[in-house]
Amino acid sequence: MMNRREWLTSSAALAGAATAAAGQSGKGKKPIAISSPNGLAACAKAVQVMQAGGDTLDAVIAGVNILELDPNDTSVGYGGLPNEEGEVELDASVMHGPTRRAGSVAAIHGIKTPSKIAKLVMDHTTHVMLVGEGATKFAVAHGYQREDLLTEKARTAWLVWKESLRSPGGFNNWTSFDKNLRADAEPPFERLRESFPNVNEETLQWAWHMANHPTYGTINCLGLNEKGEISGVTTTSGLAWKIPGRIGDSPIIGAGLFVDPDVGGAGSTGVGELNIRVAGGHTIVEAMRRGVHPREAVLEALKRVSKLFNDDKPMLSKLGIEFYALRTDGEYAAGSLWKSTGDYQAFAVNDGGESRLEKPVFLYEK
Ligand code: ASP
Repeated sequence: MMNRREWLTSSAALAGAATAAAGQSGKGKKPIAISSPNGLAACAKAVQVMQAGGDTLDAVIAGVNILELDPNDTSVGYGGLPNEEGEVELDASVMHGPTRRAGSVAAIHGIKTPSKIAKLVMDHTTHVMLVGEGATKFAVAHGYQREDLLTEKARTAWLVWKESLRSPGGFNNWTSFDKNLRADAEPPFERLRESFPNVNEETLQWAWHMANHPTYGTINCLGLNEKGEISGVTTTSGLAWKIPGRIGDSPIIGAGLFVDPDVGGAGSTGVGELNIRVAGGHTIVEAMRRGVHPREAVLEALKRVSKLFNDDKPMLSKLGIEFYALRTDGEYAAGSLWKSTGDYQAFAVNDGGESRLEKPVFLYEK
């Protein structure tokens, strides 16, 4: 349960979100796209495609392709941080509102744009979900190149992570005897400078941070056109250094993404395991079906996540999850488990012109 102060703060945030939401597009008005905060360019692209008469799903996929193809984005598509064996494994799902169809791929290797393969599964099979090698072979059958998705930057971060691991006795096979034996005497970052003499300081600091705080990062993007049609996509490289084969919430229809053309759509970023356990995307859409505003609907899903840990805030404080919701009347919101000053304390919106960041509502304040 929230205490009174949290409730007041979050009500204030709600009021802010309500003002931001007022006057937004709905059926018969202008197209709108919302996404996780990394999607300013994606939302702009999605709206451009919808303004030009493109399909809502083609629009949001074109948007997220920008991140999937960006080697510098280390959480989505090409350039994503790999699994514990150094292989990039991607998850993605799509839902096309107008035809009530879905497609998804999970733990797919070697293909830069998994969102496109999710759509191919939807368009060219009787299935909804393909995983692993089967998904890659399916993409290759449709003319996609199997490519190496591990960039030098991501590979460095992976090697730094490998070097940062230690047995309880302080040993690590991924570094020299010499450095193992000196390990106690030196701050670990110093040893890295020696191991990676050709990597610049900035990249090394970043890699060290990633090794110590394995990141989550994903884009969920929802698009609504002037006819009131809605579609969505979620795409990610998932949790850095994951166990090979780990699948997050992003490709799970009903968790990382859910769209019902009668109601709206919802998606998620953050610790996917939490979302899978509450089927967050579906939970939010069902809440909106009852007439609840998107901001109340995302809070409802966040409260369910909180319940997974008996609302134990010290435990929950180590976890992060965000939900995004867009209703077919153009009302929208995002919600975060915690109020923080980090990147995720915002979500991206575009309803024509420049994209902007808006504030999500939140369940708890630290
Ligand atoms: N939800 C994604 C996953 O669990 C990661 C993220 O959103 O950051 O794979």
